[in-house]
Amino acid sequence: MYALLLLAVDLHGGLHLYVGKYLKKMKVDILFLTAHPDDVELCCAGTVFSHIEQGATVGIVDLTAGELGTRGTPELRAQEAAEASRIMGISFRENLRLRDGFFDLSESSKLTVVRAIRKYQPEIVITNAIRDRHPDHGRASHLVSESCFLSGLPKIETQENGIDQKAWRPRQIYHMIQDRYISPEVCVDITPYIEKKMEAVIAFKSQFYDPLSNEPHTPISGLDFLEFLKARAREMGRLIGVEYAVGYTTVGPVRKNNLLS
Ligand SMILES: [Zn+2]
Repeated sequence: MYALLLLAVDLHGGLHLYVGKYLKKMKVDILFLTAHPDDVELCCAGTVFSHIEQGATVGIVDLTAGELGTRGTPELRAQEAAEASRIMGISFRENLRLRDGFFDLSESSKLTVVRAIRKYQPEIVITNAIRDRHPDHGRASHLVSESCFLSGLPKIETQENGIDQKAWRPRQIYHMIQDRYISPEVCVDITPYIEKKMEAVIAFKSQFYDPLSNEPHTPISGLDFLEFLKARAREMGRLIGVEYAVGYTTVGPVRKNNLLS
């Protein structure tokens, strides 16, 4: 018995391992699957810093390019996302190019997300809030949750670069808490990372507070919004007795081997 092993590097620098007819992308521990470039930074950059420092691998798959954003352009958002990714030290970032504002829960959308899940084989997926001010967030949360389930069904056949993908179901899904308050079920201490988180956020210069910008004012472009982000982290921190934290809700019970961890 032997398996055909082949290593290849793609145009984006990603390392692929071919085992027989299956394409095995390097696995990631935590995969963010979120509607817009900047969702992860706004909500979870502290979680990213914390888990990378603890040895986890983290990747981001943006569902859309954020092309409907009032300020900036998709090209500028892509540059800003690359800078934020560099600051956070994530392993990769990919954009699925679904339609900002109009992506749906169709079979085609779900298969697009299933391909991404199978490609990166995450242990944990973190996605948008179950409901929020921006309707894309709640819709993305449904799309990603259903796709995580479907991804585990072997009879749904998908391919990546012409190679069959294996079924894969993440063992846990967490939902962000974004603009609208939702009572958290899990809070992650991000106290040591709060300033680095804000650095990753303001990498999106076109979207957030920039006193030199001539673009229209939006609900997220004022200094008050950056203060709100810190205040929310303070609020979540208070719930678990630390200075700053980020809160999540979950789908199903959280598996623990040790209640002390
Ligand atoms: Zn968003």
